[in-house]
Amino acid sequence: MTDRRFDVVVVGGGINGSGVAQAAAAAGHSVLLLEKSSLGEGTSSRSSKLIHGGLRYLESYEFSMVRESLAERALLLRNAPDLVRLVDFHIPVYRETRRPPWLVRLGLSLYAVLGGLSAETRFQTVPRSSWDTLDGLQTNNLLKVFKYRDAQTDDRALTKAVMSSAVSLGAELACPAEFVAAEITENAVAVTYEISGQQQSCQARVLVNAAGPWVNHVADRLGSGMPQQEIELVQGSHIELNGSLQRGIYYMESRRDGRAVFVMPWRDRIAVGTTETRFKGDPDHVVPLRSEKRYLLEVFRNHFPAYRNAHIEAAWAGLRVLPAGKGHAFHRSRETILVTDRPDKPRVLSIYGGKLTTYRSTALKVLKQLEGSLPPGTALADTAELPLKP
Ligand SMILES: Cc1cc2nc3c(=O)[nH]c(=O)nc-3n(C[C@H](O)[C@H](O)[C@H](O)COP(=O)(O)OP(=O)(O)OC[C@H]3O[C@@H](n4cnc5c(N)ncnc54)[C@H](O)[C@@H]3O)c2cc1C
Repeated sequence: MTDRRFDVVVVGGGINGSGVAQAAAAAGHSVLLLEKSSLGEGTSSRSSKLIHGGLRYLESYEFSMVRESLAERALLLRNAPDLVRLVDFHIPVYRETRRPPWLVRLGLSLYAVLGGLSAETRFQTVPRSSWDTLDGLQTNNLLKVFKYRDAQTDDRALTKAVMSSAVSLGAELACPAEFVAAEITENAVAVTYEISGQQQSCQARVLVNAAGPWVNHVADRLGSGMPQQEIELVQGSHIELNGSLQRGIYYMESRRDGRAVFVMPWRDRIAVGTTETRFKGDPDHVVPLRSEKRYLLEVFRNHFPAYRNAHIEAAWAGLRVLPAGKGHAFHRSRETILVTDRPDKPRVLSIYGGKLTTYRSTALKVLKQLEGSLPPGTALADTAELPLKP
């Protein structure tokens, strides 16, 4: 039997794989996406669920990433209003907070500039007379509360919506289907995958490895010629507490170590996250550590004493893919890194890292790098214009 042929085979049905499938199908290419468990089951359902520029990345001078993310946020607010919505964010600054009011004001001003000074990026301070309306926020030693807006989503639902847009443009989804191996030749990639214990195969002009924290597990199956980026996996955990918040999201600084922690409404509960802990195990088995759960509960209770009886009802953990390096993970670049098997006419490309927010711009960069290896397709759509529905 002759193998089926695709222009692009994507491994991984997280936000990045789904984004590449959508962009490739929109550009007129035939696409098959392989997902071993279910869409969004990896990191793309375990994030902080924010579609944002990332205010804290200003501290590591990642200005172009923040600008790109804010531009993508604007597109998602327009194209996916049922999935991505603006929420009020509050930053309380206490006497002991490490980032003083002038620094927060400077950061928010720069954030607004990078967001094109649109109405959605302006900020203000909450008058002292309104502090008692802020969900029982601790007001002892409180100096200022800043308010700005960013967006929140349901990450798994967004991933599914992007993949369903890809399917509507002709992409095929095989799920559950596990990528097993590939043989890379000059002009094609022979791909082997498994569905319900049965081996299947197909031919691709290019293969995109969008396996998130499994990226180097997949790269290992591509043969010794495939270059790999050295990475570190950093676990981030969230807890879900009983209770609800009325005023939006709070961006706290932990008194213990100055780390940023989000307190947000999530479905009919309160979510608190994240921590950062190095992870060495199998990404299939990532769970929040007991110490992380305790830490997050402590930060929450310190800032919201009225909720002293709140208890943990659920918790989740996800893995960030960061370039290996020395020093604290926080200071490591959050830029997405694209690695190909060869500089000219690549047959394989691996995606390392990235953000939920920038999946679309990442997909365009992936296609740009693979341009020389793909036939010129007849574009069916522009992903910047495509609506996304839950
Ligand atoms: C704690 C945390 C909080 C975050 N918060 C935010 C945020 O608020 N906003 C934001 O913009 N970004 C955030 N991020 C970043 C963002 O969530 C990730 O960059 C993004 O979800 C990664 O998506 P991905 O598609 O690359 O990987 P994943 O979502 O992990 O997808 C990879 C997929 O590959 C599949 N797979 C693996 N091996 C195989 C195989 N052999 N065959 C077939 N399929 C395979 C897996 O099952 C998985 O579904 C956060 C990240 C973390 C860890």
